[in-house]
Amino acid sequence: MSTAPIAAQLLDQHGRVARDLRVSVTDRCNLRCRYCMPAEGLPWLAKPEMLTDDELIRLVSIFVALGVEQVRLTGGEPLLRRSLTDLVGRIAALTPRPRIAMTTNGIGLDRLAGPLAAAGLDRVNISLDTVDPKEFADLTRRDRLKDVEAGLEAAREAGLVPVKVNAVAMRGINDHSVADLLAWCLERGYELRFIEQMPLDAQHGWDASTMIGSDEIRTRLSERFTITPLPVSERGSAPAERFLVDGGPATVGIIASVTAPFCGACDRTRLTADGQVRNCLFSQRETDLRAPMRDGASDDDLAALITGEMWRKAKGHGIGTADFVQPIRPMSAIGG
Ligand code: SAM
Ligand code: SF4
Repeated sequence: MSTAPIAAQLLDQHGRVARDLRVSVTDRCNLRCRYCMPAEGLPWLAKPEMLTDDELIRLVSIFVALGVEQVRLTGGEPLLRRSLTDLVGRIAALTPRPRIAMTTNGIGLDRLAGPLAAAGLDRVNISLDTVDPKEFADLTRRDRLKDVEAGLEAAREAGLVPVKVNAVAMRGINDHSVADLLAWCLERGYELRFIEQMPLDAQHGWDASTMIGSDEIRTRLSERFTITPLPVSERGSAPAERFLVDGGPATVGIIASVTAPFCGACDRTRLTADGQVRNCLFSQRETDLRAPMRDGASDDDLAALITGEMWRKAKGHGIGTADFVQPIRPMSAIGG
């Protein structure tokens, strides 16, 4: 295999350039979504295993020097990291300043949306799969729908607009209520995107035969709305296929990560809460940055480790092929 060229960019052998860094700031969570975690939770990382704030900021600054233009904070549940607002402020102070986004379940955002926006957070995606309280409690195994709704409202009031909502449909739980969720989001001006369920749950319960694919979501939405595709030219590297709802201007997105993968246009790189760089959600390998950093590695040494890992990025995730193997790390420990 050829080695990574020396460049101030995160290139891979298939011509892609990574500009979007997903940083997992914690692997802990206060929900137990069925497509993500088992009911009993997972063995969380111990504090000494996690990057400190200074270590995390140092690594993010190296990624920014390597051409990263957007940093998305995620987890686990990012709002559970106590220093989150401070981290956002420190990322916003980097030069050049990256755009800063966050993916969250919204619990606690009613208090934190204002301070996060003031610190420099630009955009937020809030995960909400159903607005039916029973379905919500069944899917997340927690009775926290009201907290998520309050978080969404606070995000809008703090100017984190357009507020995006991420939803996963699960058969027999919330698949029949996807149009209700869209109606609810339209009423409040939230931009809804469905994501196909991927084989990334800790309990390895994903099943291709029961997964709700993008076609099925579209069919169910069409029972209540007129859904018209926006031209592909408006898609770019953004993975969501977007549709006008009832002629627009409102839209709904569907991210068909499994049935129509967008790996060819992927511009992502990932840093886990324990300091591993990953070139893909589905990668079987990762490169440790934490140990070399704690052993005194220079910024150039760390940059070389990052570019090397990104150079090895596979062409596609291979879900559905005979040799596909689910990664050992679940989504919550990689950073979704
Ligand atoms: N806790 C935060 C949240 O839920 O938004 C951030 C982390 S979560 C792992 C990030 C996103 O991944 C969420 O939108 C969640 O719905 C999605 N997700 C988790 N497991 C998934 C799976 N198996 N397939 C597809 N999406 C998944
Ligand atoms: Fe927690 Fe997000 Fe996973 Fe749900 S999807 S269990 S909110 S990390």
